[in-house]
Amino acid sequence: MDPHASAADIAGAVMSGKESAEDIIRDVMRRIRDASRLNIFIAVNPDAVSDARRIDGVVRSGGDPGRLAGVPVSIKDNICTAKMPTTCASKMLEGYVSPYEATVVERLRSQGAVIVGKTNMDEFAMGMTTEFSAYGPTLNPHDAEFVPGGSSGGSAASVAAGVSTISLGSDTGGSVRNPASFCGVAGLKPTYGAVSRYGLVSYANSIEQVGPLARTVRDVMLAYEVISGPDPRDATTADARPPDGSAPEGAALEGSRVGLVRQMAPDSLHSGVRDVFESAVSGMEAAGATCEEVSLDMVDHSVAAYYTITSTEAGSNLARYDNIRYGYELDGSGYEYHRYVTRARDGFGPEVKRRIIAGGFVPSAGYAGRYFLKALKVKSRLTREADKLFEQYDYLASPTVPVPPFRLGEMIDDPVALFQLDINTVTANLTGKPAVSIPYGAYRGLPVGVQLMADSRKDIPLLEAARSLEGTAP
Ligand code: GLN
Repeated sequence: MDPHASAADIAGAVMSGKESAEDIIRDVMRRIRDASRLNIFIAVNPDAVSDARRIDGVVRSGGDPGRLAGVPVSIKDNICTAKMPTTCASKMLEGYVSPYEATVVERLRSQGAVIVGKTNMDEFAMGMTTEFSAYGPTLNPHDAEFVPGGSSGGSAASVAAGVSTISLGSDTGGSVRNPASFCGVAGLKPTYGAVSRYGLVSYANSIEQVGPLARTVRDVMLAYEVISGPDPRDATTADARPPDGSAPEGAALEGSRVGLVRQMAPDSLHSGVRDVFESAVSGMEAAGATCEEVSLDMVDHSVAAYYTITSTEAGSNLARYDNIRYGYELDGSGYEYHRYVTRARDGFGPEVKRRIIAGGFVPSAGYAGRYFLKALKVKSRLTREADKLFEQYDYLASPTVPVPPFRLGEMIDDPVALFQLDINTVTANLTGKPAVSIPYGAYRGLPVGVQLMADSRKDIPLLEAARSLEGTAP
């Protein structure tokens, strides 16, 4: 079967018995080995072929194997799987196997998806290039000298390289959309609470979501339909899904109003990205949308607020990696609290340490008012501004990332410049609203994506709009 076939085509072929899931997955496992120099996977699933054989058995016995029958799916390594390790690309969790499976993984499997492996990422999802992985960087399948984006870089690369059809990433400030843009695939950050976080290793749990990546918006939508919906094990998912899960009448771009966020396409925008964005605006207009410039003033402060809030939550969430509850050096050579805890720092890479140190400082007594509480104010003002815009506009559009993919190592020594690359993506997280990145063109042969954002709970209409925009792409 064509490695770039859609999920629906694969599932259709498996259900009708035209193709066997086992053959499809054997072929994918072979291609994963051939693509190993891209360093996409931290672990491959040793049971993938037997999992596929089980799907074929269901088909043969006349049962319903599910909407994703035989579809090869990869999972970011911060989403728990009960049989494969979940390391978050950190030395701290080397070899760690979760005792339970994330709800999103269970839901994919229950629809017949075959998990092929766990994908590389920035350590604990902190980064935007996948260079901050204890397992070395993932390379961009379009040109191996370039970064794939991050932090879900392995997920985006696996879909772009055709070694999985769907991948799950996590998006705290852009980690699904940024690598989708850099690897030329589609990726969704759902409405906060639309998808269960049960089994997602927390980085900044008040704003992050699991989100699907795929080569087409249609496959992203299919994955979203399977993984979304209330989960009694994650109280933030209550009632988050639109009642019937389908698009309301006239939801696509035809007749819609789109706001082009001025602060996300400033004069300083990279010219290659500007060209792609302008052609996307023409595409939206051709599809029947009315586009006009709008202002979201708080965007100018969003990156500072984002890093203040996320460092604070990370500092608290990562306190459990103390080498006692979780750790890599539990050798049983006597209990010396001081030794265990001080050695814990050797388990973290530089970016994670930066966040933990900042996360101890910004909410501390005497400084909380100046930093953390101020950041929360920016978050609520930004949300009010966005709510107001959505009274008038159906979608907000911008480039996904202000620059095209860059070379490995090019920015790794400049963390603050890296933070600035999140300027167009963090708004969706801080406001809880859904946003999707779709590939729309290229700069010097490397993919460039555009982002559409919608009001909360409008994930399906947003994906419908993205699909009509995708249809106009050059
Ligand atoms: N680049 C952002 C960060 O490092 C986003 C990461 C993410 O979305 N997980 O925090």
